[in-house]
Amino acid sequence: MPELPEMETYKKLLYEKIVGKTITNIIINREKSINCRPDMFIKDILLQKVIRIDRRGKHLLFYLVNGRVLILHLMLGGWMYYGTEEEKPNRTIQIQLSFGIENLYFIGLRLGYLHLYPINEVDEALPNLGPEPLDINFTLPFFINYLHKKRGRLKTKLIDQKFLSGIGNCYSDEICYHAQLLPTRTLEDLTDIDKKQLYESIQLILRKAIQYGGYMNHAFYHDDRLTGGFDNKCKVYDREGELCERCGSEIIKKMISSRKTFYCPHCQF
Ligand SMILES: [Zn+2]
Repeated sequence: MPELPEMETYKKLLYEKIVGKTITNIIINREKSINCRPDMFIKDILLQKVIRIDRRGKHLLFYLVNGRVLILHLMLGGWMYYGTEEEKPNRTIQIQLSFGIENLYFIGLRLGYLHLYPINEVDEALPNLGPEPLDINFTLPFFINYLHKKRGRLKTKLIDQKFLSGIGNCYSDEICYHAQLLPTRTLEDLTDIDKKQLYESIQLILRKAIQYGGYMNHAFYHDDRLTGGFDNKCKVYDREGELCERCGSEIIKKMISSRKTFYCPHCQF
């Protein structure tokens, strides 16, 4: 599932491709992916200019010039592609937004959605999200204070969107590996040194993943050299049976709260 770095990558690329441009056509092949009647949806966004794109947790928000906002959540298996009809991937398209001869394709939206709201209803429409780990106010003292009286397993808490926004299965494992903390540890037994290390690993891994375009490698456009560059930088995620770069032990997979969790049992404590 796309997480914070993947959505930041989309945000960056969408800025390059569609911000300032006008939606010239809309095709809705899957009505369940939207939240109102297709004719109403189309009427509200046709010939509107995209003026800004924001990310909140794993959501992207497309602000239109008429005060409407499209809220996108890709969930599991969703992705986007931008290009002409000839460049279109050979996949089922759930929604297509056209910008002249180029189109933004929404693919794999089974659980994912593209919902339309007036700007003043956006906060209500979003679920209850925890702090953004890359926000300027998310400092080490804030984090230490925030952890006070918080309980639960590291893996479970890191992927809890009410605890922190935007981290999922991949980056929770990479953060724990970088911090040399076992994902089975609990927040309540972390030392001050562990907490500081955890904070630093959250910052470093998320920023590095954004820099390399995240780990999911569906190209966003035909000449996309950014998306997916972090995939081969992952140290443990989806690397069961491979050897740990740090200590040479075998990376293992374990289910924690019914989530696949990858870690090194030898150099994470
Ligand atoms: Zn190791």
